[in-house]
Amino acid sequence: MSTQTAPVVVIGTGLAGYNLVKELRKLAPEQPILMITADDGRNYSKPMLSTGFGKNKSADELAMGSAGEMAEQLNIVIRTNTRVTHIDPAAHRVFIGEEPVEYSKLVLAWGAEVIRARVEGDAGDSIYSINDLEDYARFRAAAEGRKKVLIMGAGLIGAEYANDMAAGGFDIDVVAPCEHLLPSLLPPQAADAVQAGLEGLGVRFHLGPLVTRIVRSGDQVEASLTNGETLTADVVVSAIGLRPRLDLAVKAGLQVNHGVMVNRRLETSEADIYALGDCAEIEGRVLLYVLPLMASARALAKTLAGEPTDVSFGVMPVTVKTPVVPVVVSPPAPGSAGQWQVECDGVDVQAEFRDENGHLLGYALTGARVMNKVALNKELPAVMP
Ligand code: FAD
Repeated sequence: MSTQTAPVVVIGTGLAGYNLVKELRKLAPEQPILMITADDGRNYSKPMLSTGFGKNKSADELAMGSAGEMAEQLNIVIRTNTRVTHIDPAAHRVFIGEEPVEYSKLVLAWGAEVIRARVEGDAGDSIYSINDLEDYARFRAAAEGRKKVLIMGAGLIGAEYANDMAAGGFDIDVVAPCEHLLPSLLPPQAADAVQAGLEGLGVRFHLGPLVTRIVRSGDQVEASLTNGETLTADVVVSAIGLRPRLDLAVKAGLQVNHGVMVNRRLETSEADIYALGDCAEIEGRVLLYVLPLMASARALAKTLAGEPTDVSFGVMPVTVKTPVVPVVVSPPAPGSAGQWQVECDGVDVQAEFRDENGHLLGYALTGARVMNKVALNKELPAVMP
């Protein structure tokens, strides 16, 4: 097979991979497409993984389609439970172990990996991270019939799990080495409002210390914190962060920084290799959210169909799924000069980040104030015009 007639190969069947292929199929009905995925290829919406306990949804109930159904619907080939182990950009080939697979264009949509907590002790197998549907299924099985959950991390995923599992009847402790929850998203007053709401559901926060050691204690585990506290739990969720997967890109000689580096056309440093979604760093931005990958999928589909197209990002607020105190936030770009101006009324907080000329650069809204997002979005500059 010449590389011209070889398929477009997409590594990954997450939201980035599937959305790209859906868009490409609309523009190029005959284009051969091969998707390769390390998981079972089920189509699901990852944000739903932190809403499943409150709604009592199993992994199967969150899945929207099997790999077979997706392959038929999109008229593509999908290889599931298959890990790409090597990329040879010069030969236009990826390898699955020893097996070479040729591509005409290659798209990296292989996502981000969880950052593992460095914790001593003999209870490592009671620590769960939830970054895909299979993780979620394993964690649900472990939490079945249990009550006490320790969540490490108070970022978006930790806060959402605290709300979701408290709503699902669990008894929750959250430990994180930060002064307030959602530290990279919210100013303190808005974070305090969310914390108050979660405490109203019975969630206990231990902010400041780290978990250093987790050991078995009967059918529970015991966690030691750097402030001398000891907490018991039935299961532990580690939600301390995600980072773009880089290993294969580095070995293939692609330029990487925090993510696989791409330009606005989503081209990596190697010809005919593109990246989007959680693994990509677009002009210096790693955006681990759905809206940027949807915009990227639309732009890259056009490029792959023969109409070179730059991606642009408009205003992209993030909704934190803490229904006890709803949150919408559009954080200012890192390093922006300006100040937060905050109005608080109980758990209803409106925080606006403005520069010295009064221009709005970001905002955080909680409680009833989330309704003001539409007006504020009109004032905000685009993330990447
Ligand atoms: P992934 O979904 O991780 O897909 C990666 C794919 O690559 C998988 O199919 C994997 O098997 C495959 N793969 C990896 N390595 C290989 C290999 N070597 N060979 C073959 N296949 C490989 N964002 C929001 O905007 N709003 C939210 O409310 C929100 N909530 C979230 C809640 C949770 C619990 C989590 C974890 C994330 C949330 N996010 C949210 C983030 C959002 O879900 C992600 O940005 C998005 O789903 C990433 O999609 P992706 O396709 O880039 O990566």
